[in-house]
Amino acid sequence: MSATPDAEDALGHASTAQVAAAVLAAADAQHDAAVDLLGRLVAIPSTGGSPAEVEIQHVLADVLHGDGFDVDVWPLDLAALTADPDFPGMEVERREAYGVVATLPGHAPDLGRSLLVDGHTDVVPPGDLGAWSGDPYEMRRLVRDGREVLVGRGTCDMKAGLVASIAAARALRAVGVRLAGDLTIAPVVGEEDGGLGTFALVRRGVTAHACVVPEPTALDVVPANGGALTFRLRVPGRATHASRRTEGVSAIEMFLPVLDALGRLEAERNADVDPLVRRWPIAYPLSVGTVRAGDWASTVPDLLVAEGRLGVALDETPAAARAALEDCVARACARHPFLAAHPVVVEWWGGQFAPGRTTDTALVDAVRRAHRGAVPGAREQEVYGAPYGSDLRLLAPVQPTVQYGPGDTRDAHAPDESVAVDDLRAATRALALLYVEHCGLL
Ligand SMILES: [Zn+2]
Repeated sequence: MSATPDAEDALGHASTAQVAAAVLAAADAQHDAAVDLLGRLVAIPSTGGSPAEVEIQHVLADVLHGDGFDVDVWPLDLAALTADPDFPGMEVERREAYGVVATLPGHAPDLGRSLLVDGHTDVVPPGDLGAWSGDPYEMRRLVRDGREVLVGRGTCDMKAGLVASIAAARALRAVGVRLAGDLTIAPVVGEEDGGLGTFALVRRGVTAHACVVPEPTALDVVPANGGALTFRLRVPGRATHASRRTEGVSAIEMFLPVLDALGRLEAERNADVDPLVRRWPIAYPLSVGTVRAGDWASTVPDLLVAEGRLGVALDETPAAARAALEDCVARACARHPFLAAHPVVVEWWGGQFAPGRTTDTALVDAVRRAHRGAVPGAREQEVYGAPYGSDLRLLAPVQPTVQYGPGDTRDAHAPDESVAVDDLRAATRALALLYVEHCGLL
């Protein structure tokens, strides 16, 4: 390898092991700055569709520019993207959104391979503030179960992963490592409600030889995702005064046989699943998240609206999964005298996450090697498919893509969301080694 003049003495003609040692030491030296950057990003309440979701993209563009990246920032053409037949869906209103692509150009792109790191900057709302131990947007350090953790909305999902990817690049720069292939970091919006940002990234033609999504995987390797389709059911009834309820039909009661049928459908769809997802009690959950019915306590309700998500199996098409749910609802209605004449209406709206899978074992192996190098003596990493949809399914058809990042999804989307300090440190070290191994050295 070679190095910048300043680092020539330290790194010139160094062996692979010496380079790795220097890179790891530099990654550790970046840790405090990484924690500071994470706190700064957590302080931006970048929920989907909020002005802060716009702000954080510009903040990261500035940060990455300051770190020596060539930065491309552009306003997303929301009209064109949402009209695209392949648009993956959007559940919040947005009047503006930005794409950011930051590239450290490789010094010998013909010799090295390029790597894309895609990380979303949007977070879900904090939920019940009373369930938090403090302000969700003021990051703080706590000790939980003997581990030091950083608490705040978005720490785990997935600002820590994004920060680790940036800190890893800073570490390489600090020791004067010159990558042969391009390293691109792309902060994206709108992952939580469908994948707008990554869809726009792909449409802009951003590709690489491989891609890492540093979503929280507890530092395991996730090369596949189940899908998730958001649905809405409109269950009819017939309104009347509650004192004469037998002359009406309660939409709430009509919902019960449908809910029961959906429970059986979930069991059927999970009876025999792909080995990659067998670790989960339910690999492809079918869950109803909201139910609204009626508008008056003493009126028999004439409409119930339920919304939920249907898990899509690995390699199953969303169309086949939709057909399975529609068929299940239709059969449940056909068995019921009132519903046979007034069937439940099924609508598909919002996030429509297809499943995704990378079959490229070379990338999985490279991530595992980097992790072992970064965390000597680490437990054996697991390789598995995640039960949730993510941007991986938009990226995997373009280049081999895996998820690998700090934090456990158990701690995501929850009050007092947190990421372990050790995970952030380990992910920074591992990503730095991966950059070197994958992109190659000049
Ligand atoms: Zn996420």
